[in-house]
Amino acid sequence: MEKVMVIGCGAYMDSGYGCPGEWRCLKAAALGEGKFEAPSQVITFVKCECPGRPLISNVGMAIKLSEIRPDAIYLSSCLVNAKPGCPYSDAEEMAKMLEDKTGVKVVLGTHDYH
Ligand code: SF4
Repeated sequence: MEKVMVIGCGAYMDSGYGCPGEWRCLKAAALGEGKFEAPSQVITFVKCECPGRPLISNVGMAIKLSEIRPDAIYLSSCLVNAKPGCPYSDAEEMAKMLEDKTGVKVVLGTHDYH
């Protein structure tokens, strides 16, 4: 079973309604639905916080402290598909920086639930 990290958009998690990081990503990972090809273990859940500058180092620290290198990093659907979008970065740019830093593949999105 793959071990994964999920990164959520903190701006949404702090003020969203319906799923501020409560269940959609976790359900999709557990059941192997949405962007997850098979049931996956969520080892770490990192919250991006505006303007997102510490995200890359926080991800590195989560990997170091958990002592588990994830097989994949998933950017949450609320982060990737936000409308209006993130004013500080875009998901592709974020994914590229994360892959460069960690060497771990980054998947854009987690689930298709409404
Ligand atoms: S920087 Fe962007 S992705 Fe990160 S919490 Fe703020 S709005 Fe969300």
